[in-house]
Amino acid sequence: MKKIVIIGGVAAGASCAARLRRLDETAQIILLERGEYISYANCGLPYHVGDVIKSRDALLVTKSEMMRHRFHIDVRTKNEVTSINRDQKTVTVTNLKDHTAYEESYDTLVIATGSSPLRPKIPGIESDKIMTLWTVPDADKIRDMIHNQGAKSAVVVGGGFIGLEMAENLHHAGLKVSIAEAMDQVMAPLDPEMAVLLHNTIRENGIDLNLSDGVASFEEKNDQVQVKLNSGKVLTADLVLLSIGVRPNSQLAKDAGLSLSEQGGIIVDEHMRTSDSSIYAAGDVTVIKDVVSGKPIMIPLAGPANKQGRIVADNIAGLDAVYEGTQGSSVAQVFDLTAASTGSNEKTLIRRGMVRGKDYESILITQNSHAGYYPGAMPLFLKLLFTPDGKKIFGAQIVGTDGVDKRIDTIGVTLRLGGGIKELKNLELAYAPPYSLAKDPVNMAGFVGENLVNGLVRFADYKEPDTDKEAVLLDVREEAELLGYEIPGAVNIPLGQLRNRLNELDSQKHYIVFCAIGVRAYNAARILAQNGFEQVKIYPAGVRFYRQLHPESETFSGKKPADELNAKQNNGVSAQTPDAKSVMSNTRINSQKLNIDCSGLQCPGPIMEVFNTMKTMKEGDELEVTASDPGFAKDIISWCRRTGNTLVSNEKQGTSYVAVIRKGTQAGKEIPNPASNCFSAPSDLNGTLVQDTPQGKTIIVFDGDMDKVLASFVIANGALAMGRPVTMFFTFWGLTALRKSEKVPVKKSFVEKMFGMMLPRGAKKLKLSKMNMAGMGTAMMKKIMNDKNIDSLEALMKKAMDNGVKIIACSMSMDVMGIRKEELIDGVEVGGVGTYLGDAEESNVNLFI
Ligand code: FAD
Repeated sequence: MKKIVIIGGVAAGASCAARLRRLDETAQIILLERGEYISYANCGLPYHVGDVIKSRDALLVTKSEMMRHRFHIDVRTKNEVTSINRDQKTVTVTNLKDHTAYEESYDTLVIATGSSPLRPKIPGIESDKIMTLWTVPDADKIRDMIHNQGAKSAVVVGGGFIGLEMAENLHHAGLKVSIAEAMDQVMAPLDPEMAVLLHNTIRENGIDLNLSDGVASFEEKNDQVQVKLNSGKVLTADLVLLSIGVRPNSQLAKDAGLSLSEQGGIIVDEHMRTSDSSIYAAGDVTVIKDVVSGKPIMIPLAGPANKQGRIVADNIAGLDAVYEGTQGSSVAQVFDLTAASTGSNEKTLIRRGMVRGKDYESILITQNSHAGYYPGAMPLFLKLLFTPDGKKIFGAQIVGTDGVDKRIDTIGVTLRLGGGIKELKNLELAYAPPYSLAKDPVNMAGFVGENLVNGLVRFADYKEPDTDKEAVLLDVREEAELLGYEIPGAVNIPLGQLRNRLNELDSQKHYIVFCAIGVRAYNAARILAQNGFEQVKIYPAGVRFYRQLHPESETFSGKKPADELNAKQNNGVSAQTPDAKSVMSNTRINSQKLNIDCSGLQCPGPIMEVFNTMKTMKEGDELEVTASDPGFAKDIISWCRRTGNTLVSNEKQGTSYVAVIRKGTQAGKEIPNPASNCFSAPSDLNGTLVQDTPQGKTIIVFDGDMDKVLASFVIANGALAMGRPVTMFFTFWGLTALRKSEKVPVKKSFVEKMFGMMLPRGAKKLKLSKMNMAGMGTAMMKKIMNDKNIDSLEALMKKAMDNGVKIIACSMSMDVMGIRKEELIDGVEVGGVGTYLGDAEESNVNLFI
């Protein structure tokens, strides 16, 4: 009869013991566990803290008595192994109940001691208000703090999956929660741009998220803990939950002379056998093979631990079982979102010295969880990494609300079975509207990946619009969509107009094309590519993704309030007319309420649906819109503001966003404040109601005299300093201030050339309107300005442009005067009078200089 001793009775140890009994009825199996419980659901502990899992008993998956009676296993809880004596093939055990020690012999030993949470030597860490969550008693202690000791606030140190689950559950339990994370992102298995989606959700749910700010010290004060961060910021809370990683419980193995890796994990072969053939190891304590890189890796996850326990049992029972390695597939819930990953992320590939475009490719798409026309479809963001030839998948990450887990597993399986882009494309996945799409997001990733491999598309890096200042951002959404959200500095040509407006673009330039999610951008990129534009890239996952990464750009830029739209929407009655109120009250009597469900609507999105429906409505009618895209809740605020309609309410209901819009406005129009963070908490979506007074300043610069242009830029910079959006419209002689100082070779007619020669070339060449005195007066003025430390005109212009003044060069005047866009300084937008008038309507000061 074989005698098998297993150290550690939870995931790996318990599954090893149960499997072994099923394979060998005669073996003597002893399970030694230092804790009070075996086989408990540590993964469920955070949810018990948050009372989502109410029953503590439910966490105790298999109780000791059951293991004893059903499996005939000698379970000894509160028995800690203190040494492994390989020569004698014994272990020394301390019975923690009576503190007696004894020796237990073995034929085969299994080490399944798991890992323990790190508790680094940070000053003040010994406080008993600083806790970790690893066992059932840990959960009991935290619950006691909440329910019996009145804890009202918590700091979670570490933004890994346990830290985030705890933050959410502590929040759920009613505590005010802060997170302190030393890295610049949470959830390390994700790449930074994917983690941003979680950052937004965490903050929107009212958690104070501190990134790139590790803990310097702890101090107990007035029955609370003060957590001092490296930045100097101090977070004060009733309890601290430390969740900054784990270390393997491998001291026993080390003392026994077993081979360990540098990180301290027990080295095992493919049969999970250690350097001693009588000893196996399984679970968090081992180092295993990363199936993507083939390198050793430590991944503390329940799935691998359970499987390894079973494989160890098979091998002990004489079966030839092999553990092939792990790819680290993981999934976690973060408030409404689910974040999942499999295989390697991009950070890891870069760390391995790989270069994008050469050694790997990356795509990022946004898709619906199921058919958009079926209620409840929610967007998900999917990032896929693969070899440039598409034959191998390195990894994938998905963040979304619904259907994330099955997609990550589908890709994970494909990766594991050696599939690539072609396999993702060809996979036949079950489809019906409530569950999926005829082209599942996984298939879609395959299609897009194939286009990339075949050179049909190129994707910009998500940071490229910020880092490549030469790139032209081309937004091919409809104008009505821009009323909801605009990409700062982007040129807008709706896809349907692109073919006819190619002459407005310069084929030599580098374009980054945007649409809502990337589909129209792909079509636009194909049009451009086939018309001689060689440097065209698509922005990954479109505006929907861009705005998640640029929450600071969620401000109202004051562009184009679509006069035509207003006129149509208001049935010819301007929303701003003095008697709007009476129109409203009359129409309210017969007003009707319509509903549209835009859930899952991707392209062009709910805003277009609202736009089209509002055209059919009467003043005072109300429209209730349900959408699944979180961006909609923000879009609709700007959209109503800019189109003169009233946002009656804007709420999050479950996972949907529901807005009620009344056509037209009442006197003293009330609108939610777009500056307020409409996601700070679900109920805050209603926003603060404020007066909508236009704050913009518009300046028409008609003259090209130095003093006048100077004055206009002084005013512009002043308005900017007050936080007001400024638009400067340069027309006729004013255009000369925008010319480059050097000659630019462009094709011109004879008359245009003459004009060009006579007109001053740029700000430096402008003269005073009075007392120029053959240039002497101008030179004197420049000297005085210099002496008095007043910025030169060029410096003022640069300052204004750097700080976001919108400079429009009048296209009609340019045409008349033969000035080409290439001759103008960078950052100038060429536009018609309509563009200027749009901004003027959003302004309360309009100057003509
Ligand atoms: P463990 O399950 O930790 O078991 C090791 C046991 O060995 C412990 O009970 C310990 O007391 C005992 N032991 C150690 N030393 C001795 C000794 N000298 N003598 C006797 N006994 C000893 N993974 C996921 O994949 N998904 C999740 O959602 C997830 N959520 C988690 C949430 C929490 C709060 C925690 C703590 C973990 C979570 N994990 C999750 C990780 C997962 O639980 C672990 O990877 C898994 O339990 C590891 O199994 P193991 O058997 O190696 O170690």
